[in-house]
Amino acid sequence: MVSEPAGWHDLRLHVNPLIRIIPAFMVRFFAKPYVAGDSLQRAMEVVGKLRKDRGLLSTLDLLAEDIQRPEQVQRNLDAYLQMVDAAAAMPAEDRPTVSLKPSSYTTSPLHAGGDAAGSREAMMQIAKKASELGVDVSVDMEGHHWTDFTIETLHEMHVAGLRNAGCVLQTRLHRTEKDIDELPEGMRVRLVIGIYQESSDIAQTDKPAMKDRMLEFAERLLARGHYVEFATHDIAYVRRFLEEVVPRVGVGRDRYEVQMLYGVPRDRFLADLRRQGIKARLYVPFALSWDLAIEYLRRRLDEYPAMMWLVTKNMFWRS
Ligand SMILES: Cc1cc2nc3c(=O)[nH]c(=O)nc-3n(C[C@H](O)[C@H](O)[C@H](O)COP(=O)(O)OP(=O)(O)OC[C@H]3O[C@@H](n4cnc5c(N)ncnc54)[C@H](O)[C@@H]3O)c2cc1C
Repeated sequence: MVSEPAGWHDLRLHVNPLIRIIPAFMVRFFAKPYVAGDSLQRAMEVVGKLRKDRGLLSTLDLLAEDIQRPEQVQRNLDAYLQMVDAAAAMPAEDRPTVSLKPSSYTTSPLHAGGDAAGSREAMMQIAKKASELGVDVSVDMEGHHWTDFTIETLHEMHVAGLRNAGCVLQTRLHRTEKDIDELPEGMRVRLVIGIYQESSDIAQTDKPAMKDRMLEFAERLLARGHYVEFATHDIAYVRRFLEEVVPRVGVGRDRYEVQMLYGVPRDRFLADLRRQGIKARLYVPFALSWDLAIEYLRRRLDEYPAMMWLVTKNMFWRS
C-alpha cells in the first residue's frame, strides 16, 4: 500500500510544532508580500492598482479552505458571491476572474474520507451568478482526492451552459493526459505543475519532467481549441511556451495568457510581456482577517518549508 502524503487540508491538527511556534507577527511579516490584505476592499484596491500601474489582470482568491463548521461554509459562500459582485463592478477589460477551491464549501472533505457534501452546489451557485454578471471563474485543483470530483463538477457546469467556468490541470499527475482528451470543448485551462506532493504511482516526481509536460500539454490544449493559462514562475519555460509552442500551433494572443502568484518578484519579465502585448494575470489571495491568513500560511509553510527560503530570497531580490 502506498503511504498517503499529507494533504495541506489535513494539517490543522498536524502542523509541525516548530512551525506552530513561529510568532504570528513573523508569519505575517513573511506573508505580507503574498497576501493582498484582510478584506475584499483591500484586495480590490490591489487588483485596481495592478491593472492601472502595471497593466496586469488578476484572479481573486479567498484564503478560506480547511473549514470545520457549517457557519464557515456559509461565510465562504457569501464572501465568494460578494467577490463576484466586486469583479462585475469593474469594466469588462479590467475585470478579475475568481478562483475557488472545492474544499472551501464543505465540512466533509474528500481527503478525510468525507463526501464533499454541499461543495458542488455552492460552486454551481457561484459560477451561475458569475455567468449572469459576466465574470469568469476558475476551479482550482487540490490534492488527488479531489480530482475526479472537480472535473465532474466542471462537466456539470459545462452541461448547465456555464461557459465562464475554467479548470486547472496539474502536469505532475499521470492521469492528466487522459483528462485533456475528455475536457469539455473549448474550456479555459490553467496549466500548473501542481503544488501537492503526490506519490510516484500516480504522479511524476521529477520537477523538470513536470515542466516539460507543461509545454507538451499546452501544445495539445491549444491545438484542441482551448484557451491556455500558462501558470509558472519559471521564466525559461514561459519563454519556451511563447517562442516555441505558440508559433508551432500558430494561434494568436487571444488564445493564451501567462499567470503568476501575486508577490513573487517577476516585475521586469511581466513588464516585458506587457510591452509585447501578451496578457498576464496574477493570482491575488486575500483573507477575511489576518488571523485566518496566518493560520493558512502556517499550513502552507508546513507543507512547503522551502517557501521560507524562497520568501527570504525574494526579499533580498526586491531590496
Ligand atoms: C497563478 C497560479 C495558480 C496556481 N493554481 C494552482 C492550483 O490550482 N493547484 C495546484 O496544485 N497548484 C497551483 N499553482 C501552483 C503550481 O502548481 C506550482 O506549485 C507553483 O507555481 C510553483 O511551481 P513553478 O512552476 O512556479 O516552478 P518552481 O520551479 O517551483 O518555481 C520557479 C521559481 O519561482 C519562484 N517561486 C515559485 N513559487 C514561489 C512561491 N510560492 N513564493 C516565492 N517564490 C516562488 C522561485 O524563485 C522558484 O525558483 C498555481 C500557481 C500559479 C502561478
